[in-house]
Amino acid sequence: MERKPEGPSDIPGVLKMVAGMDALKNLYNISPRFLQNLYVNAYGFKNLSRFRKWDELIRDIEFTERLARQGQIEYVKSKLKETIANAVTNVPAYKEFSSLKADLDHRDVFQVLQELPIVNKETIIANPAAYLADDPGKGVVSKTSGTTGTPFAVHMDRHTFLLGDALWWRRTRWAGFAKGDWIARLVGDPVIPLRIKDPAKPWFVSRFDRRIYFSTFHMNPQTAIRIGEFLNQSKPAFIMGYPSSLEILCNYLKEKGFRKDWNLKSVLFSSEPMHAHQEMVIREVFHTEIRGLYGSGEKVVSAAQCNQGQYHLSLVDGFVEGQFGIMSPIKPAAITTLTNKLMPLLRYQVGDEIEMQPALDCSCGRTLPVISPVITKHEDYIVTPSGRKIAPSAVVYAFVHQEIKDIKKGQVVQEDENTVIVYLETDQETFLKSRDLLKESMTEVFFGEMEVVVVKADRIDIQKSGKSRFIVNKLRNRFHDVSTGSNTREPFHQ
Ligand SMILES: [Zn+2]
Repeated sequence: MERKPEGPSDIPGVLKMVAGMDALKNLYNISPRFLQNLYVNAYGFKNLSRFRKWDELIRDIEFTERLARQGQIEYVKSKLKETIANAVTNVPAYKEFSSLKADLDHRDVFQVLQELPIVNKETIIANPAAYLADDPGKGVVSKTSGTTGTPFAVHMDRHTFLLGDALWWRRTRWAGFAKGDWIARLVGDPVIPLRIKDPAKPWFVSRFDRRIYFSTFHMNPQTAIRIGEFLNQSKPAFIMGYPSSLEILCNYLKEKGFRKDWNLKSVLFSSEPMHAHQEMVIREVFHTEIRGLYGSGEKVVSAAQCNQGQYHLSLVDGFVEGQFGIMSPIKPAAITTLTNKLMPLLRYQVGDEIEMQPALDCSCGRTLPVISPVITKHEDYIVTPSGRKIAPSAVVYAFVHQEIKDIKKGQVVQEDENTVIVYLETDQETFLKSRDLLKESMTEVFFGEMEVVVVKADRIDIQKSGKSRFIVNKLRNRFHDVSTGSNTREPFHQ
């Protein structure tokens, strides 16, 4: 499940704040803790206006949650017409289809849509300018590397960007968020500089927006127990995290005999699928319900889990072929934006398979289309010699650098205890430009404990799921293959 935290965009709040400007990031990293605390809280203050906008947007679309099926179809149809008309008029890649604009008046829009080609990340990366509208004006660039290892920048208007975030936020509202609730985050926010190896407080508290940012980069047995104690003290209503980060934390807490002593409303996860072994240990440690969210950093599709455990498509962000039983579903799913005019993604394969459950009426009362949980792939994590476990979504952080771009695909392989090989599928020129930067940022993410080798690869293997694995840990897999359960550094789960 790609992606990404409440802001799936892939890039969480603080990272968004610093990633765009390396200078600001450096300033943050060299500042003393009290100043960092100030920055985080200033960001939190700014967040309040974003929350207000999200709430407004959620109110505006609330009627779609319980709209009868025919009403939903009419809603999607009218938005699709706007999307297609804009694309064939303003977007170079679609201008050859300009005759379709007149068709929109008298033909079924779903039929018209089928005349456009199916595209994916690779199609667009090969010729990005062709997919950008003429005179796009000022928008937002959402950079997603997700856990697919292919960095991709989507230009979108501010409304699309905000709506995407608002839909993620709605999941928390569905889970019973009330004014004043605190949310603890374990979603790769780089709040603690990596040069600090063993922080006494691997977190920051943002008072205005009531968020606790934990550093998922610094997870080891000692920091985990400090995090556990701080959770007991601060008693957040929600814990939000990547399944892999939550799993790592909960395994340490379980080992240390941690006892939760407050009323936690819900654990929220996103960005990766939640595997059964992860869910088990998270439930064991936190004793509460778990709610997932599926969404893409491209902000064309999202689905949130309701109190009945069903995933409801958001409906208003994008149309998934096969939704409502209209058009044949294809694999991976093809999705068309219903909002973005700047770089409209049409029949875009985000890479996941989305299985519709058109016959399912959910007893939560929402009529939003139900889908099966999206199964992507199981990701490994990297284990450093000192025992730190680095989750895939945290490793992605190394790729988020202004100068690292035009990489078709990346893969990070832990060869042995001390060595990581980063494979990059790209041309020679980009490779030479990115190699040293990436080596540097990777080394930092692994706390200087790993030898990082960056090599150029012609092609990274694709798995049956249609995705390559972003992280491969040969060490864990080797142990896994031969294991009888003893003699292993890692608890294993599958
Ligand atoms: Zn429901």
